[in-house]
Amino acid sequence: MIKKVLVANRGEIAVRVMRSCREMDIRSVAVFSEADRKSMHVRYADEAYCIGPPPSSESYLNIDRIMAAANRSGADAIHPGYGFLSENADFSDRCRKEGIIFIGPSPESISTMGDKLTARKTMIASGVPVVPGTSEEIRDAKDAKRIARQLGLPVMIKASAGGGGKGMRLVHYENDLIAAVRAAKSEARAAFGDDTIYLEKYINNPHHIEFQILADSFGNTIHLFERECSIQRRHQKVVEETPSPLMNPRIREEMGLHAIAAAKAVNYQGAGTIEFIVDDDLHYFFLEMNTRLQVEHPITERVVSVDLVKEQIRIANGEPLALKQDEIRQNGHAIECRIYAEDPDNNFMPSPGVIRHMTEPLGLGIRHDGYVYEGYEIPHYYDPLISKLIVWGTTRDEAIRRMRRALLAYKITGIKTTIKFLERIMDNTDFKNGKYTTHFIEDHKKELLETERCDLQCEDVAIITAFIDYMTKLKKVSLNPPTVKASSKWKDFGRRKGIQRL
Ligand code: ADP
Repeated sequence: MIKKVLVANRGEIAVRVMRSCREMDIRSVAVFSEADRKSMHVRYADEAYCIGPPPSSESYLNIDRIMAAANRSGADAIHPGYGFLSENADFSDRCRKEGIIFIGPSPESISTMGDKLTARKTMIASGVPVVPGTSEEIRDAKDAKRIARQLGLPVMIKASAGGGGKGMRLVHYENDLIAAVRAAKSEARAAFGDDTIYLEKYINNPHHIEFQILADSFGNTIHLFERECSIQRRHQKVVEETPSPLMNPRIREEMGLHAIAAAKAVNYQGAGTIEFIVDDDLHYFFLEMNTRLQVEHPITERVVSVDLVKEQIRIANGEPLALKQDEIRQNGHAIECRIYAEDPDNNFMPSPGVIRHMTEPLGLGIRHDGYVYEGYEIPHYYDPLISKLIVWGTTRDEAIRRMRRALLAYKITGIKTTIKFLERIMDNTDFKNGKYTTHFIEDHKKELLETERCDLQCEDVAIITAFIDYMTKLKKVSLNPPTVKASSKWKDFGRRKGIQRL
């Protein structure tokens, strides 16, 4: 039985995994880079090991250093979180070879699903619908033109090793194909060291809907329903919700069965996600499988009342799934907003820096998975996600209202964040009506990105208010009030020794 878990990650997901470990009486081990000494996951863990300098390539992506920390700490399992090494087959393999349990799938499942072309072929063979396109590599522009004509434009160029939207290009006109193929190949080579690309038909008015699955080592595979992830910016998710406003019970059941078939096709074990692209008429196609815990997993946890990290640990322990498909129900509605240290009114520029003040939203139906605190300096080396705000309501309308309330109560000063931008999404009529596709942000750019003129002023007002409050209190508790008549509170404040600066 697993007694000690090393979490090979940082930030909110490391803390989230450790919370479940603590509830299971499992000790947690943090690893951290030199830039993360003061990070919450280091404070939260039972033990912590520095694994190198700030760049991820020298710390969170360095398998040797992570394995050394695992061996030194005596951890019997490693949880990879998401990102970093979570979908690295070599890492899963190395754990297996060193006798440490990898809380995730086998290297074979990761390899098959990690290569999009191999995954496509595997899905076709098991009867799961895939986006119309090639199952072979596109070698040159001539090849690309021929296939694009067969499929009909627009087409999507995709990198077989792809992820995070890299190596992906949407092409509307044949004349743009050559340049797009070249750009996609070079981006894929730089990002993944592999420039294999292929073509898919572009699905108009697309919706991104994914299914959560769990599979044990006894051949039991279940799905935990869908997550609607169509609110995206540059193909990256921003807001997620479950149930999807697009779905109906028949399609939900059918897609759930296909998600199970997709996982079974690669003998999958653990928690995973099958991503589908769905058109307005509810035709759906397999997009890819993420062989790990997703950023947006908490909305599923809330609606189906399952702790996915605990389930992952139980499966890794060799236990059979305690849940049966017909016992799982969707209860109410959950929404997640990703809060980034970015400036939406300045092209989402990352905004690292020191958090001066922070008020977290509280109350019924609110979950806040974060890792920052007042005085913490967000390093510029990593993903700018600072937290995830998850709300639950009995209905979709209640969940949207609750998210609005939570976002209004959520205050962070010192850095720029996406909170106001998310508030505007919650206020949008199309969003409220559940009528949106992956084009939502692009289509509503004007309303959503309207320059937030008062941002800076609000922060200044907050500082001045805090100053006045401080001055008032100071006067009340002062045992030795000044005998000389102060010309003004401000000058008096400045003259006092030791309080010249705030
Ligand atoms: P990555 O692995 O790089 O994130 P995905 O294949 O998961 O790439 O696609 C990311 C997003 O790009 C999807 O959620 C969807 O919004 C869009 N997308 C991908 N393929 C298509 C397609 N064939 N047609 C329309 N949109 C697509």
